[in-house]
Amino acid sequence: MLRKKITKILLFISTFFMIGVSFAPSVSANLHGWRYHLKTMDYNYNSNVKSTFRTAYGQAITSWRVANDIRYVQKSNSVNSLGQENLGATNLYGEATTYRRSSTNRVYRFTIRLNNQNANINKTNVARSTATHEFGHTLGIDHNGSESIMNTSRIRAEIYAPQKVDRDRINTLYAGVSH
Ligand SMILES: [Zn+2]
Repeated sequence: MLRKKITKILLFISTFFMIGVSFAPSVSANLHGWRYHLKTMDYNYNSNVKSTFRTAYGQAITSWRVANDIRYVQKSNSVNSLGQENLGATNLYGEATTYRRSSTNRVYRFTIRLNNQNANINKTNVARSTATHEFGHTLGIDHNGSESIMNTSRIRAEIYAPQKVDRDRINTLYAGVSH
């Protein structure tokens, strides 16, 4: 049932779980094929997000600003939402969903959810690492086996910010893109 549903919506959106299966093939190695139109994106929190998760999201936003000058601006009417949810499995950390224009592969909307049912999510740096990882999906970088925020086997307590390989990929992907 899940597969059928995912197939149906694959034309427009892709959902990525931190552990498990990604539902769309990479266009090239470690890239999804999409990116933002600009290096600035707005966002807002869902009203139910607990303070520790807001802190984690805030740290992730700062990390991407420091790493690649990606600027996230909070707006009350943003279509991009940061939230928390029971994702239905205790081993899932988070989820990112992107919505892209099929003609350009530019992201026009994204949602990120932290899984409040994960047994490890409240441990030091884990929510932060998860949030930074999920922003990475929305930016256009995919899972890989390197020392990377996009490595699903990383030690989340220690790797919670973009690493060199991540910074380099985003720099390449957003070369010449303005704010
Ligand atoms: Zn992931």
